[in-house]
Formats: sequence, structure tokens, C-alpha cells
Amino acid sequence: MGIAMPGDSERWRCTGCGNLTRFDVTRTVRSEDFVHQDLAGRGLVEERSVLTETVERVRCRWCGATDSVEIVPRPDADGSAADASAESTTGRA
Ligand SMILES: [Zn+2]
Repeated sequence: MGIAMPGDSERWRCTGCGNLTRFDVTRTVRSEDFVHQDLAGRGLVEERSVLTETVERVRCRWCGATDSVEIVPRPDADGSAADASAESTTGRA
């Protein structure tokens, strides 16, 4: 039932309709944020470090299925770009 964020050499794919690109992701993120407030008190998160992240649901944007998304290898993952072998489950900053 649970599904993880795709690693560096992986991607999501909907087995129902073949969608590879559009997903609605519900996730719980525990993060440490650098909040920068200006002198008027308005705050802005300028840096975010994801400490833990749990994907609760991935819904296919095309067909709406919530139980048909699987992890598949990226097409170029076994080529020359495979030297990034560290598993990364964090999003981009
Ligand atoms: Zn789908």
C-alpha cells in the first residue's frame, strides 16, 4: 500500500493509464526551515532541510487512481548517469 518517493534512478508510473509525469502527492514532511523575517515581521522560508518524509498517497493526475502507482526504473538510469548511486528520498531544496 505504501509507496516511497522515487530514487535517483527511479520514477513513478501509473499502471492503470501509463501516466509518467503527473501525480498528486500527499506526504508528511518533518523539516527544519530557515525562516527569514524582515523588519516588518513578514516571514519567508529561505532554506528547508527535509528530516523525514512519508508519502501517504500518490494519486494519478490523469485517471485519479490512488492504488495503481508503481516505481519503475528511469530509462536512462542504467547508462552513464548511474554513478549517482546514493539513494535520495529528499525533495529539492
Ligand atoms: Zn493513471
